[in-house]
Amino acid sequence: MFEKYDITSIWLVGLAERGGNWYTPRMQTKPLFIVVSAPSGCGKSTLIDMLLQEYHDIVYSISCTTRAPRGEEEDGLDYHFKTKERFEELIRENAFIEYAKVHDNYYGTLKAPIEEVLAEGNSMILDIDVQGAAKVRDYVRALPNNDPLKIGYVDIFILPPDMEELRRRLVNRGTDAPDVIERRLANAEGEIARADEYMFKVTNDDLGHAYKRLCDLIDALSGRM
Ligand code: 5GP
Repeated sequence: MFEKYDITSIWLVGLAERGGNWYTPRMQTKPLFIVVSAPSGCGKSTLIDMLLQEYHDIVYSISCTTRAPRGEEEDGLDYHFKTKERFEELIRENAFIEYAKVHDNYYGTLKAPIEEVLAEGNSMILDIDVQGAAKVRDYVRALPNNDPLKIGYVDIFILPPDMEELRRRLVNRGTDAPDVIERRLANAEGEIARADEYMFKVTNDDLGHAYKRLCDLIDALSGRM
């Protein structure tokens, strides 16, 4: 019974993968290296989660850190937890595309996993702050023009509609004390001042609209449309 329908099953799986149209050829998309930054409260994590739910060929870049896991955090899921010695060894081996020391702990993005994901024909998404993104940009700029990381590189800055709305969102989120909110807003102003360094800006005025713009951008850049 199964053997009889085997070819049909394979065809149906292929059909599902292609979005359900029998006449749609299997899509060969360009692997992207997508860097996303946003001030806190702009919905960046939500937008990235939505993308990862829908685009199964986009892989989330997991950073390395020397800080200890917190609460439910898992090695290889939230971070790759490393000892200080191992992290410094990796620095010496030039294994990082960028790294930084924050409050006595190292944080960094490994180069090899990005290269592997792109070589498999998938895309990598990196969620990083403005300073980290600037280091990644400089790194990518220095690569030869035929390097897949350079070919697929795109950086996107998520903007709030305005500062008042950002303040409202941070207050409504209810997770931060007033002084923390003020600090986040001051940081946001500094980060927004650097938004022009990015290739693309997406304003998160409405989550659905912002997500649509992000998808349109990724579809266009990867040749999915
Ligand atoms: P946390 O310890 O709260 O998870 O993160 C602390 C800080 O480290 C955050 O500001 C976060 O953006 C930053 N961070 C996390 N991963 C990386 C990374 O791979 N590179 C850099 N430069 N910063 C990172």
